[in-house]
Amino acid sequence: MFDQLVIDALDFVRSGKSLQGNVPLLNLERLRDYLTNSAGELAYLVTGLLDERDRPLLKMSVNGIIDLSCQRCLEKIEYTLDVKTALLLARNEDELSRYDEDMFVDAIYASNELDILALIEDEVILSLPVSPRHEDTAGCHPSTGTGIHEAAVKEHPFTVLASLKQSH
Ligand SMILES: [Zn+2]
Repeated sequence: MFDQLVIDALDFVRSGKSLQGNVPLLNLERLRDYLTNSAGELAYLVTGLLDERDRPLLKMSVNGIIDLSCQRCLEKIEYTLDVKTALLLARNEDELSRYDEDMFVDAIYASNELDILALIEDEVILSLPVSPRHEDTAGCHPSTGTGIHEAAVKEHPFTVLASLKQSH
């Protein structure tokens, strides 16, 4: 089984650590709700550092290919994830609310038991398109199919009527 990945956030930054690895999509239960299949994995890199104002920061990047479901035809869309984010680590509630007011930064509470995989999953879900669709409408198979089906239904009574008239 896959272990949880828990770090002491400030200690991670203080010692300039970084974590790199792969996480199977199967282990990301919340993300799986958005996927048409959960085969494959995501590659991640998390680095602890201080920003230009000496504030503790976690830099994170997540890459991989996932299958989202098209909102028009519900078939799969291959989506390339390329998430890059930087999160300031707030050392207390005051700091956190101050960071939250700043629209240019993202911040989280600097927990000493920070669940890295949950954080990765959060950031990936936030980065997903709200309403994924095939860019090319021709890629939406069922909607093309419905079009043909409707045409056939409409044509049918007319053809029958036409042949009745002819027989008279
Ligand atoms: Zn589609």
